[in-house]
Amino acid sequence: MAPARLRTIEDLGDLATKTVLVRADLNVPLEDGRITDDLRITATAPTLQELLDAGATLVVCSHLGRPNGKRVDALRLDPVAARLSEVLGQPVRKLDEVTGTEVQRAVMSASAGSVTLLENLRFDPREEANDPEFSSDLASLADLYVDDAFGAAHRTHASVVGVALRLPSAAGRLMQREVEVLSRLRGAPDLPFVAILGGAKVSDKLGTITALVERVDALLIGGAMAFSFLAAEGVAVGRSLVEPDRFDEVRAARRAANARGVRIQLPEDVLAAPEPGADARPNVFGVEEIPAGQMGLDIGPATVRAFAGTISSAGTILWNGPMGMFELEPFEAGTRGIAEAVARSPGFTVVGGGDSLAALRRFGLAGRIDHLSTGGGASLEFLEGRELPGIAVLMEEGT
Ligand code: AMP
Repeated sequence: MAPARLRTIEDLGDLATKTVLVRADLNVPLEDGRITDDLRITATAPTLQELLDAGATLVVCSHLGRPNGKRVDALRLDPVAARLSEVLGQPVRKLDEVTGTEVQRAVMSASAGSVTLLENLRFDPREEANDPEFSSDLASLADLYVDDAFGAAHRTHASVVGVALRLPSAAGRLMQREVEVLSRLRGAPDLPFVAILGGAKVSDKLGTITALVERVDALLIGGAMAFSFLAAEGVAVGRSLVEPDRFDEVRAARRAANARGVRIQLPEDVLAAPEPGADARPNVFGVEEIPAGQMGLDIGPATVRAFAGTISSAGTILWNGPMGMFELEPFEAGTRGIAEAVARSPGFTVVGGGDSLAALRRFGLAGRIDHLSTGGGASLEFLEGRELPGIAVLMEEGT
């Protein structure tokens, strides 16, 4: 039997005169009602454009933030509709409800080739509950369903799972590309395969570390999570962020890596300061010399050189998580150095996670990465080898 295959837009047949419900991931960061990063909108736009070009009429839906089943004005999708309209170069009619008679009426009367955007799905508590009635209401709006929301594929929510079971359904191009690229990393990456992990909390990434140790040749660890690795081995790391209740798991991950001959590369030096702050004046210390009253807030220059050396000879690179508190200028050099090394690499490069993507865009390097993964949690769960419910419903056995 052929392996299971992801259904794609081709499987939906002729789209002319069809209404397609598209589950997109338009969960963009907002500040005072302004979109600060529109990557998720631009990344899904080619799918929408392709469907429109094929003659479809679109009803688009997405979540935004965590309104927890309530209407939250700051999380309405109006700014998203405005930006989507600019990107598509055509009007996007934004509705103020998710389901109900008004929505039914608006969609029924939508003109051919138009784009209608529903209100934030998570304003309705039935979305996250995967409520069958809510799934049916959404499904009743369209003839076909396309899921392009890779970032939500690890959620068993109504718009991700329930609707896919009620309409002829397929993955959009962004979803398709995410699955192809991440499957390549999970299956047959070009070697050496080097993963770079960073960020604040080691607890969030232990599952990923354990899974990656089975697949990679080297694992480079920066960010605050590196301090749990150092402290678990008895290194005094001053006031740096550590999670002592995870030290046993950290040591176990290290033993597993050793047993498989996987090199775990930790920082040799760090930038430390008494406090984080935009006007902090950090100093470089070897990791064994961090003063008791100071916090390590970025990797140091020797570490950037060492990590860059490993990165330069990699066949495949996966990066997720910043190397330090890069939002603050005094602590951005480590993340910048790693971003540059990844961008320079001749290997196949994949970057995921909101902070790493924001860093790449800030440094003007996003265009030099082979694949920007829009799904933070979803990409990591996929790489761990877990079945994502939103993808499982789009698979069919090959013939
Ligand atoms: P996470 O959400 O776990 O991926 O962590 C991302 C956050 O980690 C970013 O906001 C960084 O500012 C923060 N971060 C990275 N390195 C450090 C560090 N050494 N100390 C404190 N925070 C850090």
